[in-house]
Amino acid sequence: MTAQLLDGNALGQKLRAGFKQKAEELAAQGTRPGLAVILVGGDQASQVYVRNKVNACAQAGIHSEKYSYDDDVAPQVVLDKIAALNADPKIHGILVQLPLPKHFDADAVLEAIAPEKDVDGFRAENVGALVQGQACFIPCTPYGVMKFFEEAGVNLKGKEAVVVGRSNIVGKPMAMLLMHAGATVTVCHSQTRDLKGHCQRADILVAAIGKPKMITCDMIKPGAVVIDVGINRQPDGKLCGDVDFDSAKDVASFITPVPGGVGPMTITMLLANTLESAERFAST
Ligand code: NDP
Repeated sequence: MTAQLLDGNALGQKLRAGFKQKAEELAAQGTRPGLAVILVGGDQASQVYVRNKVNACAQAGIHSEKYSYDDDVAPQVVLDKIAALNADPKIHGILVQLPLPKHFDADAVLEAIAPEKDVDGFRAENVGALVQGQACFIPCTPYGVMKFFEEAGVNLKGKEAVVVGRSNIVGKPMAMLLMHAGATVTVCHSQTRDLKGHCQRADILVAAIGKPKMITCDMIKPGAVVIDVGINRQPDGKLCGDVDFDSAKDVASFITPVPGGVGPMTITMLLANTLESAERFAST
């Protein structure tokens, strides 16, 4: 079997075309959607992600503001900026690029973002709403993954889904969304015994680990839908995912590539959440 590619660039472009029109409509009604992005430190990957997000905003007609701070900035400076952005009517979404330097309490920083501007969906309040299946900002990466299932016509009801990774920003919300969609979900992590056995049962396998090519073809059920969230830089400088794509594509029915899979969809859903936020502000 050769898997069908779930192309995040193509799906992202398709969705973003509609976003531009929505942004223009909101602007014409007096609310130009606005996103503020905060970057602390010189991490190269984070700089690239932030640049991509700012560029994507420009293409979608969304106003963006970027605030960069040195590694050794006092956390209070960033908290003060967040407070100012919370009160700024031009801004409908605030994103703090993770990871933050070690002297930061990342949870405290995320909690400082006003819930109605938490377009990344990382605040405890948003996570709680997600658990209850209530309207909230869905964290962008798992939200993007759900769009792949929708686009490919993958019915999740009654399916065995395995999520490898239990981070607050990917693994846990991913599991929650799959469960709400009717899948039976197993979450695996570094302490899981028999990871291979769990993966082999999965109709839907999501890898969010951060270990290059850790999921090999012998761990994949023939015909499974394989979603690779991982972004790893190899010694030669090239990016790869958590799944060994070259062998996995011969076993899976659908698979996301790295790069060009989940990454562009994460940015796409950030734009979607920012527009949704602006729309809510416009209607209040
Ligand atoms: P974290 O480091 O926060 O979490 C990694 C998870 O993988 C943890 O739950 C950890 O288990 C688990 N894990 C580590 N080693 C193993 C193992 N040997 N077997 C099973 N589970 C293991 O990472 P993130 O969730 O933030 O990110 C994961 C990957 O996704 C990274 O490569 C990151 O760059 C990428 N990413 C990509 C995005 C995109 O847009 N494409 C967005 C966000 C992240 P434990 O909890 O026990 O430590």
